[in-house]
Amino acid sequence: APHSPQETRSTCPYCGVGCGVIIQTATEPSNEGRKRIIAVKGDPQHPANFGRLCSKGSKLAETANADLVLARATRPLMRTRRSDTVRPVSWSDALGHVADRFADLIQQHGPDSVAFYISGQLLTEDYYVFNKLAKGLIGTNNIDTNSRLCMSSAVSGYKRTLGADAPPCSYEDIEQADCTLIAGSNMAYAHPVAFRRLEAARQANPKHKLIVVDPRQTDTACLADLHLQIQPGTDVMLFNAMLKIMMDEGLLDAPYIHRFTEGFESMVQGLRPYTAALAASVCGVPESDIVMAARWFAQSEKTLSLYCQGLNQATTGTDKNTALIALHLATGHIGRPGCGPFSLTGQPNAMGGREVGGMATLLPAHRELSNPAHRQEVADFWGVTDISETPGASAVELFDRLEKGEIKAVWVACTNPAHSLPNSEKVARALRRAELVVVQDAYLSPATVQFADVVLPATTWGEKEGTVTNSERRISRVRVAATPPGEALHDWHIATEFGRLLEKRLQMRGLADRRRAPALGTLFPWGDPQAVFDEHRASTQGRDLDITGLTYTVLEEQGPQQWPMPEGAIMGKSRLYEEGQFPTRSGKAQFVFAEYTPVAEDADARFPWRLNTTRLRDQWHGGSRTGTLPELFSHEPEPALALNPRDAKRLNLQPNDWVHVKSRRSELLMRVRLDQGLGVNQCNIPMHWGPEYFAGLKGAGGVNALTLDDFDPYSKQPELKHCAVSVRKV
Ligand code: SF4
Repeated sequence: APHSPQETRSTCPYCGVGCGVIIQTATEPSNEGRKRIIAVKGDPQHPANFGRLCSKGSKLAETANADLVLARATRPLMRTRRSDTVRPVSWSDALGHVADRFADLIQQHGPDSVAFYISGQLLTEDYYVFNKLAKGLIGTNNIDTNSRLCMSSAVSGYKRTLGADAPPCSYEDIEQADCTLIAGSNMAYAHPVAFRRLEAARQANPKHKLIVVDPRQTDTACLADLHLQIQPGTDVMLFNAMLKIMMDEGLLDAPYIHRFTEGFESMVQGLRPYTAALAASVCGVPESDIVMAARWFAQSEKTLSLYCQGLNQATTGTDKNTALIALHLATGHIGRPGCGPFSLTGQPNAMGGREVGGMATLLPAHRELSNPAHRQEVADFWGVTDISETPGASAVELFDRLEKGEIKAVWVACTNPAHSLPNSEKVARALRRAELVVVQDAYLSPATVQFADVVLPATTWGEKEGTVTNSERRISRVRVAATPPGEALHDWHIATEFGRLLEKRLQMRGLADRRRAPALGTLFPWGDPQAVFDEHRASTQGRDLDITGLTYTVLEEQGPQQWPMPEGAIMGKSRLYEEGQFPTRSGKAQFVFAEYTPVAEDADARFPWRLNTTRLRDQWHGGSRTGTLPELFSHEPEPALALNPRDAKRLNLQPNDWVHVKSRRSELLMRVRLDQGLGVNQCNIPMHWGPEYFAGLKGAGGVNALTLDDFDPYSKQPELKHCAVSVRKV
């Protein structure tokens, strides 16, 4: 019989709410003393959730044991010829082979011939090591992440207007707001525990006003006092019209604009054509509703905005964020309790990845790759001669360059680009064209694994430790509770071991001396994740996210903390910009006028339907974990094309009929589901079923075989939220 359960505090691995959990484990004497997760409950002391969990979080114990159902990666696997299948090898053979191949490619083609594609599912410590490996040792900025698909436009919007990648709010603002605007977020499904807080806040404050902006009538929109069911992609038109109404009706906070912002004059000019009547015709909502939304937003004492992928996953994502933030600056609804533009992070650690600079355009501690002084600071901190000034390839660009043969080797960690990137059949072509594909993952089920020349088995949630940062800048600990299977290693450890091997090979070939004298020792000195965290926090000194006062010990003793928390601070900071000082050159927030631009691929005669891809309540991403539990399919058992009943009737379709859905990139077969909440000529497919599932007519690329890979010029985030398709009964 197992010993009595032990309890370990940790953080849920799914969405950016970052709920605290308590993991119960049992030691199994009959199984070599292995520790197994037997239950997971909400942590009543964690400030993100106070004990609550959603359907996904409350099933963590069952999904942690999913290796009973789905194959976990337990040993390194390798092949040296594409015609072979991968076979088990030792860790030293696998990493040695990859180090040799990377060194060869770097010698022959330069450092930009290799790339890393990592993940917002990784812990901050993992991210830090990968980033140093790419930018510090190899000298390439070709390291990007699936966070590019998630929050990049929110980042660009914040930086453009407020001067830093820093959500200024806290979850407690949800309880304090009088008016909440939710834009492009089905929070009830995507951030359920934060949504429960909103529901409770509304019950406690019957005068609270909720405005939801969404092309679909989602469960979130059903709670709204005012649902603006706009046409897809017309958010900038709506926000600009709301600001013009506020301006015309004298609802702005003129003293705030005067004291704390710059650039309002350009807004006045730019907003002239954005009448409520024009917005009503473009957005497809009544003029009176737009006027009401503007008045509620401006006249409420405390207005909060919550927003997510509906704004971010667009070719105009940065502009959508910019236009929404302008509403807050113009009304002074920022820097006070219950106020502010609050982007909801999609993934558990998209924030932590940005903090360590683990993206193609960033450097550690929110430094900019394009800033020579920042490059030198990082080079000095790491003890290397320089940081390459060549911008790295962002997510979509990375696989484009792989397909063209410009990038020859890619290392994918903890993510599944063959499923999750748009235009996924192109991604598959790129992976086939690559000379070397390394996949580091806890599971063998992701579609990307089939392209791997080398599979590196990683530990996963419940087995590894480190930190994550949630949507409100709160850093929480993730802790080890269970014994990992087989030979799986921690992600930071794999990258560290590889870094040391590659460092030696590059030194032997005289390729590392230019960057760092061998006498200085290794760039990868760490023995545990705490040592990595300590190096990361030292890099933040004097930066906007300074956490020099935050150690593992502080997190142990005081619990999760919000950055910044510089040395000497007794706790983190719950709200930013309270004094009206912004981290811009002038210290003032910036108004930037954003012109409305339609979606990149409009509907037309050949492809007359507007396709949106969305999350389901009970599934997470590609379903490596949540896809293993029958209970989590009861909400929606299989992928289906959702259509408005009127549209279905026009196409002579009944529920469960089969349809052929086709875009300019690919085509799929699936069943039909009716959804009263969809607008006319719009359709919807959940994002969770990938190439592994679909019986496609042209390569089985999953739902993202249909989606568009055009991206925002500033944030490089692709337009996953809209493409044009045709729909035909089969
Ligand atoms: Fe996990 Fe998000 Fe659910 Fe919280 S709301 S339990 S973080 S999935």
